Amino acid sequence: MTDLEAAAALIEQADGIAISCHQGPDGDALGSALGFGLAAKAAGKTVTVSFSEPFVVPDNLRFLPLDLLVEPDEFPEEPGLMVVFDTGDRARLGSLVSNSKAAKHLVVIDHHVTNEGFGDVNVIDGDAGASALLTHRLLELLGWPLTREIATCLHVGLVTDTGRFQYSNTTPELLESAAAMIEAGAEPAVVGQEIYESVPFGYLSVVAAVTGRAVLEPEHDFVWSLLISDDLEKAGIEPSAVPGMIDYIRIAREAETACLVKDLGGPVEVSLRSRNHVDVGAIASSAGGGGHARAAGFTYPGSAEAAVALVRDALADG
Ligand code: AMP
Ligand code: MN
Ligand code: MN
Repeated sequence: MTDLEAAAALIEQADGIAISCHQGPDGDALGSALGFGLAAKAAGKTVTVSFSEPFVVPDNLRFLPLDLLVEPDEFPEEPGLMVVFDTGDRARLGSLVSNSKAAKHLVVIDHHVTNEGFGDVNVIDGDAGASALLTHRLLELLGWPLTREIATCLHVGLVTDTGRFQYSNTTPELLESAAAMIEAGAEPAVVGQEIYESVPFGYLSVVAAVTGRAVLEPEHDFVWSLLISDDLEKAGIEPSAVPGMIDYIRIAREAETACLVKDLGGPVEVSLRSRNHVDVGAIASSAGGGGHARAAGFTYPGSAEAAVALVRDALADG
């Protein structure tokens, strides 16, 4: 039996399914969780979907069908079956770690190469460009049909984790999956506009602040910048309204590696990207985070400057 078959068997047997994804969910995490949740509900299961505090859906994902979402404290404490999506290690479940430990059965569906498999059944495929692709495979195996809403959720995962079908993880199979989503009613123009072209006006001044303080360090092929609370306060927007800042930093062609540190009051959050050869997943893992070879991140207990220094040192050693 393959891992996917083992996951499908547990899912088929369950009456209720508690579904989650990593904290600070992105389009792939939330899209996969909600898409699977809608399909499970249609199959007659009792479904709850949640993710850890801060329980805030990013602005650009609020167009998704969110009806199944509940606050994390309403999530089953001891689920019979818990299925988690796009979560590279258990700690990324935040406050739902304890629920995952208390779950009778835990299924992990993920594509992070750094995932060591913390479930009873682990469907982990580092070659899959998105968890949404694995979710699609799972629905096909279960024989659960795509609706327009399910397809929209999964399409969001496929689009966002491949940078709109641009990164090296864009495979023929992933494009076939996207084709199936569009066939089932997902609308690329709606998804594209909601996710990428629908920011509050204040976002423009945040881009200006973040790109304005970017630093290029040619000796390390490295470009980095900071996003600070003051940028958001001046713009009058919430952290949930500013995804994607790293994308303005990483486009500098002089740099192989790009880093954006978000210093917004809590522990600093570090996003890393590389173009061709630096394994930022390894750097993030060594700092207690994780991710992929070309896109990774970690949370850092010290200052933003110290986080940048950690990355610089890793590049200098590398
Ligand atoms: P981001 O820079 O937030 O878009 O994340 C890029 C990749 O790194 C994603 O695959 C994330 O799952 C992973 N990642 C980001 N932050 C963390 C973290 N604190 N711990 C583990 N993985 C992370
Ligand atoms: Mn993710
Ligand atoms: Mn993903």
